[in-house]
Formats: sequence, C-alpha cells, structure tokens
Amino acid sequence: MLDRATYIGGFDGVSSLVGAETIGKEPMGTMPHSLVICLGNQAKAWKAFDEIMPSNVPRVALVDTYFDEKAEALMAVEALRGKLAGIRLDTPGSRKGNLPEIVREIRWELDIRGHRGVKIFVSGGVNDKNIKELCEAGADGFGVGTSITNAPTIDFAMDLVEVEGKPVAKRGKLGGKKGVWKCEQCFTYSVTPAASRVPRCMRCGKSMRRILRPLIKRGALVAKLPKPEEIRKSVLSQLERVEEI
Ligand SMILES: [Zn+2]
Repeated sequence: MLDRATYIGGFDGVSSLVGAETIGKEPMGTMPHSLVICLGNQAKAWKAFDEIMPSNVPRVALVDTYFDEKAEALMAVEALRGKLAGIRLDTPGSRKGNLPEIVREIRWELDIRGHRGVKIFVSGGVNDKNIKELCEAGADGFGVGTSITNAPTIDFAMDLVEVEGKPVAKRGKLGGKKGVWKCEQCFTYSVTPAASRVPRCMRCGKSMRRILRPLIKRGALVAKLPKPEEIRKSVLSQLERVEEI
C-alpha cells in the first residue's frame, strides 16, 4: 500500500516486486553497494550490471562505495562509455559532507568532459526539506525510502453520529449524517448536514462538488474503482495548480 500511495502521489516508480505488481508497473531500481563489494571493485560491478541486465534497464552506476564520489563518477563514465545513463550517490548522512556541493561538483566535472546526458540520482536521507536544494544543485532524480515510509500518521477516528435517522454523537462530535464537498477551483473542503443544498466555496465562491459516494452496498462493491494510474493523473493535475492558489 505504501508503494501504491507513493506512485499515486507522484513518484515515477517503485522498487519492490509486490508494490510494482499492485500498481501494474515494472519495478525500478539500480545496483546495491553489495554488488560492488562482492565483485571486488566498482568497474567490475558496473560492467557486470551492464552485461547481465536487460537493455531496457537504464545503466545507473553507484559511485560512492570506496572512493570519492566525483572520482568514481568519472571512472563510471570511462567504464561504460556511451552506455552510462546516470550515476547514483547513496552515502549515509554521517559521511556525506555537503551533498548539494558534491552534486554540483560532479555535474560540473561531467559537463566539462561532454557528458551532459549522464544524470545524477541521489538516495539515502532524501526528504521534503533537502530535496529542493539537491534539485537546485543539479540532481535529476531521487530514491526515497525512510522519509516516505515513516511519514507522520494522520489521526482519525470512527464515530456513531446517526442512528435510524436520528442524530446522535458523543461530546465534541457533530451529530447527524454529513455531506462533504470540495471546491474544484481552490481545493477547499466543506462539511454540511447531509440534506444541505450544494454550498458555495467559502474561499472563492465557486460551486462545490459532493465527494462522498457509495462504494459498498450490502457487502458488494457498487462503484468502479479507478486504477492507480488514473488517480495519479488526477493528483498531478491538482498539484500543478497548487502553486497558483
Ligand atoms: Zn474555492
């Protein structure tokens, strides 16, 4: 479910086999440090990856196993020649130093040697705070794990609010069945008694859309559920407009 949620939220792909199956996509990933360690050196590992992996898998070399990231990035370019799609930095925080500066430095060194097409991927400790700075430094893509899988939980509870048409509710809760509405213009939500007419958005004055609808009736699914890809498309089209609002 985590993989499915990240995909819907805008990630391009997931690395677990089960997660990929859930969203109906091929899993994505690159090589682990253990490959480099098992094969004894970086170039051997990059070349073995290139030799074995299907041609549709981008050649992304992990470049921080033994030496400086910049040195290994240039070694990877040399080892895979024109086949190298990108390099990946996956250094733990304790050894990382100033990661945006390292990214900037690698981008520079690749560019002045004519390898503008070689992308830079960053994984390990990437979160919503540092991703912007890494993007600005020249990182092209990210592998995110911990900050997504350990995201803060959303607190919610289920309450009885209506019994046989009569409003009932414990203290602190609003009684009666509700209508929940969303403004498609500015994404404001509104909650009203279920029988209320279509409200106007408090923020922008546009008419709102009812978003609660039956999914299960008498134990049977009564609505067609959208595919993760369709939900993702809708999320991304809304995110595009978030900046405007
Ligand atoms: Zn609105």
